[in-house]
Amino acid sequence: MKVYRGLIASEGVAVGLLTKYGFTNALSSVPSNCPVSNVDFEVSRLEKALSEFNEYLDGLKKTLPESERELLNAHEAMAEALVSEAVSHVVEENICGELAVKKVFEKYSELFRESGSGLIALRAGDLRNIASAIVENLTELRPGVGGSIDIEGRIVVARELNPVDLLKLVNQGLRGIVTLTGGVTSHAAIIARAHGIPYIIVPELDLSGLSEGDLAVIDSIEEKLLLNPSREIVSTYVERAEKYESLKKSYREAAFREAVTTDGVRVGVLCNVGDLEEARAASTSGCDGVGLFRVEYLYMSSNSPPSEESLYTAFSKVLGFFNDRPVVIRAPDLGADKPLPYIRLEESNPFLGLRGVRLLLEYRGEILAPFLRALLRASTSGNAKLLIPMISRVSELVELAELVERTSEKLMAEGVASGGVEIGIMVETPAAALLVDKYTEVPQLKFISFGTNDLTQYTLAVDRGNVKVSYIYDELDPSVIRLMAVAAGEAKKRGVEVEVCGEMAGRQLAIPLLLGLGVDALSVSPPLVGLAKYTISKLSKRDLERELLAKALNSSSPTEVRELVRKYLEGVGIEVF
Ligand code: PEP
Ligand code: MG
Repeated sequence: MKVYRGLIASEGVAVGLLTKYGFTNALSSVPSNCPVSNVDFEVSRLEKALSEFNEYLDGLKKTLPESERELLNAHEAMAEALVSEAVSHVVEENICGELAVKKVFEKYSELFRESGSGLIALRAGDLRNIASAIVENLTELRPGVGGSIDIEGRIVVARELNPVDLLKLVNQGLRGIVTLTGGVTSHAAIIARAHGIPYIIVPELDLSGLSEGDLAVIDSIEEKLLLNPSREIVSTYVERAEKYESLKKSYREAAFREAVTTDGVRVGVLCNVGDLEEARAASTSGCDGVGLFRVEYLYMSSNSPPSEESLYTAFSKVLGFFNDRPVVIRAPDLGADKPLPYIRLEESNPFLGLRGVRLLLEYRGEILAPFLRALLRASTSGNAKLLIPMISRVSELVELAELVERTSEKLMAEGVASGGVEIGIMVETPAAALLVDKYTEVPQLKFISFGTNDLTQYTLAVDRGNVKVSYIYDELDPSVIRLMAVAAGEAKKRGVEVEVCGEMAGRQLAIPLLLGLGVDALSVSPPLVGLAKYTISKLSKRDLERELLAKALNSSSPTEVRELVRKYLEGVGIEVF
């Protein structure tokens, strides 16, 4: 048996046979030279291939909720632009349609590559898939996704999956997804989550060791992919998958109720969202609002910073989806793992460099000013809050709060309608955690939100993306919990609200500890709203403080903490997944 660790793109457990998908690409078999004499015929072939592609998309659209249809409209527009440029190549160079499509694809993928942006790279993936679908239509080579293999009940392994093919696979009944690349906020991940299909991204997967029909287990709760496990292991996972399915029903029901502990404490369950589509979908997930809107995608997908107007439109839309529910908009957390095509940062230690609030203050004219103006203007459309990332000094909060006030005065002087925003800081450095009492002396500070992804990385001095040291990275490490206890205690003493927006907020084994710390709200990925509410509603806050937290704070390893919580949950009748 081989076990890989991966990133969870969609939660769940799946057991099934593997099918490799999409490793042969129609584009690679296009000849480099294919002169034609009948240009009109070639153009009509291209038009036919495009209309077949559009028909195929139309069919898919009918099977989708409104929120996912926009995505296919974007694909349609991309395909039309691609074919229209390919037609020019055919006419000007007398070449076949296949080669013309390939030329257009290569030109744009080169441009995408040069941009250096991860998000644009995702669009390059979309373009490759569209180009190859058109070439397949041209050569009538498109036998249907998966060829002759029956997808029903299979786990599909792909380098990456485009949303269109994924939707088709979903309709054919696939059971799970493994890809080598992609993002947990990619469109494919959103679709997988919407359909409840377990999906894990495993960059280290060794493809040469995989054969068609191998047995695989995806445990995208524990972030694992198991290949060819023993019969005993398979049967435990079959049980685990069944248990998850039955618990999911309870979670779904809980998602639309208030999360109140058995001793009557109400805890907010908010959503983390990464773009407009996700925000729209999240607004109907049962959550009480948005605890973290990651706006970085607006900054990473073009060659210049977004305009005030485009930011204003995006923020207003998200506030509109949530009406009066709070929406915490994070000031762009750029730098480090979120590089910008238009700001070159040559740093040997980017995670300890110019990122988050440091970068905002350095580029206050180009980046921060339009952001604050857009936020204050949009705040008239709902309940907006501002969250400042990567704080490590009190002076950063003071400066930001002053800039918010000055921006507000300026807008008023210009006669531009604007509202106010509550200000919060992300506690993601030990420095911020240890000094929360000092931050609370800044009168504008209304809430803190633990960014546990970074807080764990900086506390344990372990790169959150480095698989070689991932065994050290653990949010349940007692050192992380102790820091959080100090910070939460100081904030609560002074009436400042406490939220958690890192991944820890959605982990069932962490939730009892977070409640014990007295958090007011958890912000989780939208599919975890039900799990968080279900778990909260079965716990008594008073007992957690007394019986669990003290012991966890006194533990010496994350394993010990995990065992403590597991036992505690079982003791109060919660089925731990
Ligand atoms: C965090 O660090 O926990 C967090 C929520 O921010 P991000 O994951 O975007 O760095
Ligand atoms: Mg962070």
